[in-house]
Amino acid sequence: MSKKANSFQTPIGTRDIQADAAARRRALSGIFAEEADLAGYGELETPIFEDIGVFQRIGEGTDVVRKEMYEFTDKGDRRMALRPEGTAAVCRSFVQQRPTTPWKVWYQGPFFRYEAPQAGRYRQFEQIGTEVLGSADADVDVEVIALASRVISRVGLSRVLLVINSIGEPEDRRNYVEVLSEYLGGRIGDLDPADRDKVATHPLRVLDSKKAATRSVVDGAPVITDFLSAESRAHFDRVQEGLGALGIPFAIEPRLVRGLDYYSGTTFEFQASALEAAQNTICGGGRYNGLVEQLGGPPTPGIGFAMGVDRLLLACDAEGTFPAPNRNVDVWVVDVTDGASARDLTHLLRASGISADRSFDSRSMRSQMKAADRSGAALAVIIGDQELADDMVAIRRLREISDQILVPRSEMVDRVRSMLPEPT
Ligand code: ATP
Ligand code: MG
Repeated sequence: MSKKANSFQTPIGTRDIQADAAARRRALSGIFAEEADLAGYGELETPIFEDIGVFQRIGEGTDVVRKEMYEFTDKGDRRMALRPEGTAAVCRSFVQQRPTTPWKVWYQGPFFRYEAPQAGRYRQFEQIGTEVLGSADADVDVEVIALASRVISRVGLSRVLLVINSIGEPEDRRNYVEVLSEYLGGRIGDLDPADRDKVATHPLRVLDSKKAATRSVVDGAPVITDFLSAESRAHFDRVQEGLGALGIPFAIEPRLVRGLDYYSGTTFEFQASALEAAQNTICGGGRYNGLVEQLGGPPTPGIGFAMGVDRLLLACDAEGTFPAPNRNVDVWVVDVTDGASARDLTHLLRASGISADRSFDSRSMRSQMKAADRSGAALAVIIGDQELADDMVAIRRLREISDQILVPRSEMVDRVRSMLPEPT
């Protein structure tokens, strides 16, 4: 019996990102890079996989570490993980490289979490983020939030809410957690069963739950803002004052804690109202202390955010903004001789910075002109036997009715350039 060949599919929770979508991501990354450059942030590329210990430092109690990490043992018996997030790796790099502070970096690339896939939630997803290490100044918080806000406005998103909170310093949190535990403990039966265990182990995590039953209990819970020390409060006030001064609208959400253990002080999220509530956070971040120390470095304050590129683009789809950039070539070269002119002229056009493409396999004139029309190119450069013999080319506008012009082959590049719209 003949066995059918395997036909492979992308793994669950992953996708092929095809040309238009890839071009759009590249455009987003370009905008981010521009804004990061304007604010003095340098790009940092860390490995896609690291010693698993690096990521375990983000908190043994977090879903990311407990359930979502892609772990493996390499051939040298090392325990490794595919990176589930960026902050721990940036802090590892800080400890290893010891740069001068404040160290302002940004990063982009794929991240991996073993999650139940759904719209806006994948197992391989893309983040672009920043971290600033070495300054506790509240104005850094404002600068970092402003950077995210600039990028979000530049892609044309308008239905986005910035929510901020302060979860205080560890001492503030200890007092709060005591009161919170008591509150949650008294209502444990009303919580979603999946969240009940957290009351004893990680009561703050309960605030972060997406389950409806838990949410309604959480809505009545005491708030951290009532437990902040004078110092934490002053920091938080300065952040709010700064956002006000920069004209960045925000709302205070006193139950915003975020899903990773390392946060302290300011936390924030940008939420897209065009997306479903469970996946509406397009950017999340906050301050953290202790992470650098846990990775073997000196006590160092940090703050950063990560933008979920996939979700941000879904929000753009929902708002009908930031379309994929036009990928049409400028010129289609139609050659009905032996293809050598198409070969040489496309190369010449490309070398002159004019995008050009052609048909292969000695297609008929009709078929090549059809391909030219389909391509969306503005111009066709046409070479038939007569043009070849006379050392000329014909140029025709494809998207409007107009006469074909004949020009010497040596003038083709200049004529083509003069007939194309100015690049924007
Ligand atoms: P969520 O609560 O939605 O699971 P999170 O708190 O786990 O998010 P972070 O670790 O803060 O998310 O990551 C920053 C951003 O990365 C998120 O706000 C989101 O936009 C994006 N993100 C996180 N996990 C995924 C995923 N599995 N697929 C797509 N985007 C993701
Ligand atoms: Mg998550």
